[in-house]
Amino acid sequence: MKRSKSAAKKVKTGVFARLAALYSHMEQEYSTKAQAAGLSCQGCTDNCCTSYFQHHTHVEWLYLWRGMNLLPEDRRTTYIERAHEVVEQSRIMLAHGTRPNLMCPVNDNGLCGLYEHRLMICRMHGTKNILALPDGRTQQFSGCFRFVECTSDQPEELKPTVDRTPFYRELAALEMEYVGPKLKKLARVDLTLAEMLVQGPPKVR
Ligand code: SF4
Repeated sequence: MKRSKSAAKKVKTGVFARLAALYSHMEQEYSTKAQAAGLSCQGCTDNCCTSYFQHHTHVEWLYLWRGMNLLPEDRRTTYIERAHEVVEQSRIMLAHGTRPNLMCPVNDNGLCGLYEHRLMICRMHGTKNILALPDGRTQQFSGCFRFVECTSDQPEELKPTVDRTPFYRELAALEMEYVGPKLKKLARVDLTLAEMLVQGPPKVR
């Protein structure tokens, strides 16, 4: 049976509400493990917002743009201009074999300008984490340098660890629900946040 337009709209709204809830669960889990490890970002000499990360879902990409569209136009314009600069600088650094370490285009003097709409990795970077891959292997990230420092006296197997697997699975399900059967035909999303801003909202239909 064909869905009416209003019913289809309801499903989409539900996807973004559930993405917000998923983000919140990720943050809670991260926070529990960070506290257990004694990890705090206060006074850190590093800044995760200069990390070079690619993101992989249309649903997060569009959610980020939902945040962009809530901003006053001048701020949105500033972020897009900065994003163009970051994309160009990254291209040059990568061409020289250097991993880019440029400040995120929506970071305003240390504060995230899209805090409520920031991407998954912005909420989870820091603690040790594991991810069970579909092929049966387990991927492990030992945590940021501060996490490693503050857990250096603990045996590896006892270090507070976030299992990202259920979060990634739920994100993949939301992506499938949002994009639908077309997902298999679309090119894989493999974009930095700056590229997501330069390209504009995703076109999935
Ligand atoms: S979106 Fe916000 S939290 Fe994420 S890297 Fe940019 S400034 Fe940092």
